[in-house]
Amino acid sequence: MISTAEEAMVPAAITDPGMERELNEDRYAVIESNVGVAWFVCDGVGGVAGGELAAQLAIDAMRRELEQSDESEPEKVLVSALQEANRVIVLRRQNQAFGQMGTTVVSALFAGNQVVLGHVGDSRAYLIRNGEIQQLTTDHTLVQELVERGQLKAEAALSHPEAHVLTRCIGAEPGVKVATSKFWLWPDQISDILVLCSDGLYSLVNEKEIAEYTSTLSPQKACVKLVELAKSRGGYDNITIAVIPLEGTLRERPNDVVKKRSVSKKQPGSIWWMAGLGILSFVAVTMGMLYLLGE
Ligand code: CA
Repeated sequence: MISTAEEAMVPAAITDPGMERELNEDRYAVIESNVGVAWFVCDGVGGVAGGELAAQLAIDAMRRELEQSDESEPEKVLVSALQEANRVIVLRRQNQAFGQMGTTVVSALFAGNQVVLGHVGDSRAYLIRNGEIQQLTTDHTLVQELVERGQLKAEAALSHPEAHVLTRCIGAEPGVKVATSKFWLWPDQISDILVLCSDGLYSLVNEKEIAEYTSTLSPQKACVKLVELAKSRGGYDNITIAVIPLEGTLRERPNDVVKKRSVSKKQPGSIWWMAGLGILSFVAVTMGMLYLLGE
């Protein structure tokens, strides 16, 4: 069980090379800037040192872009950060030695009560609410496309021989399209949990387990236990997970839209105003008539 309420609210992240690989080509980062706090998980690809370099270049480029941005719209800031990472890696790939490198990115930017997710590739964001898990991102993979076309069952996607072939990747070509989704944090008695992770985790640990561990343990312990579980099942890939507890629930529309709507509903203010005007004119007419009668 979660030891203290305080511990339960402290976000945590962990990255581990796993059991078979010497290098860790995954990276995670938490970057604070004027626009808010952004969490990133990257899974680099590209052979000897290429993957590591790509993931690190991406983190560095995104940090620079976030810190230097004059833009205040969170979604635009996050997209330009990922695009900057893409620009830098595309440029580096001109060096033959790094010709195949690239990286996935999954990110969450917390800006006031707005939460923006941005991703390219197959690292994922999950939402856990009341022990139930929901995948918030759609993998940019060949198997995902096959699933969407009805040519492959979702359950068979991860065991497919080409399960990890990406259709979109940071660094593959100029002008990458970043997938985004926008949410708002609402004060609530329930607290959602956001999880960012690389495929090294979800290929070996199923969604039910991710939901169970993150719902019953503190973020720090959940990270450790989930990595241990993936490693006990082979851990053939690098494993990265970030567990971010939220103060409230994520929803697809802002809280103040509801307030604004209820204000506009109250605009019967104008009805009262018109009614008042009606009564006044009735009184005026009546008084006028009384005056005339009195004449
Ligand atoms: Ca991986």
